Amino acid sequence: MTAAMPDRVPCVQCGRAAPRLVGGLCAECFVAREPLLEAPPTLVVEVCAHCDARHVGAHWFDPAEADDLADVREAAARAAVKVHPRVEGALLRFEESQQDERTFPTRVDLEGEVEGVAVRSETTVQVRMRRSVCDRCSRMFGGFYAAILQLRATDRAASKSEVERAHAVVGAELDRLRAAGNREAFLTKSGPVPGGFDYYIGDIEAGRIVSRAVAERLGAQVLESAKLVGRKEGNDLHRVTFLIRIALYANGDFARLGEDRLVQVTSLDRGRAMVVDLETHRRDKVDTEGLRRLGGPEMLQDAVLVSQDEAHLQLLDPVSLATVDVVRPEGFQATGPTVPVVRHEERLYLVP
Ligand SMILES: [Zn+2]
Ligand SMILES: [Zn+2]
Repeated sequence: MTAAMPDRVPCVQCGRAAPRLVGGLCAECFVAREPLLEAPPTLVVEVCAHCDARHVGAHWFDPAEADDLADVREAAARAAVKVHPRVEGALLRFEESQQDERTFPTRVDLEGEVEGVAVRSETTVQVRMRRSVCDRCSRMFGGFYAAILQLRATDRAASKSEVERAHAVVGAELDRLRAAGNREAFLTKSGPVPGGFDYYIGDIEAGRIVSRAVAERLGAQVLESAKLVGRKEGNDLHRVTFLIRIALYANGDFARLGEDRLVQVTSLDRGRAMVVDLETHRRDKVDTEGLRRLGGPEMLQDAVLVSQDEAHLQLLDPVSLATVDVVRPEGFQATGPTVPVVRHEERLYLVP
């Protein structure tokens, strides 16, 4: 070493002068001696056969939305390989092949720099898939549930269209909750019961959120009641029932008012209903006490318009197929070959 070259020192291995040494070695000797890339020869990736969740440590993790199993394997391999800390700008590439149904030899390539010298290394990891059943799926298929949603209506059965709308909300809300990270937001079972429909859900908070969403959609109220079903690890285990009670009247329902009037309910407010008289199409505000519900949108039928004048419309009764005269309600205009009607006690009423 001379004073003229203070920054060039010889490598203890090969004796060549290098601008910087790593542990006394030049970069080439360092790379030859130290493994730059370490990986286990085999790596077991345990995945749920039902939902593709991955078992890591003591937990199960849902795959990301767009991940397929090749992505899951690559993520596992990436987490298992170790790059030497002296490698800078490390770039890892993974290329998997398939040996059989469960075995995926995966080649790992490393590129980087040690003290400004480009280095590369490669290794192969045998990635093995193991299919099992995650904690959540074993609960789900074992029939576990923490919440029951009971869809019912007041003084009548829930209608087909209400049950269909509830189905859509339950499905969409559970999907949304699972996507937001609640793995227990699953439906264990569901089915019709007299007067309504029951849904069994894996998580109480999910049950609460879903029942509120259904209630908001159907104009219903939710009644919550909890029951102690046991103890686990020193904590009380509860099962919660959410009774979703749909109001007797929905907007658009048909009802008898008194002895001889037929009305359609257009809105409700604390015991009072805005109605349209189906004979005159005049609006009225009445007590819901005086109404007797006949049905909802399922009562609507189409009647063929045969002819019309200022005062009357001549319609083909869709049931008796007789031609009948109906007095034109105030302001009613027929716009097509058929008109919407409700048939009640052999009479046709035009619906606005
Ligand atoms: Zn050297
Ligand atoms: Zn699963």
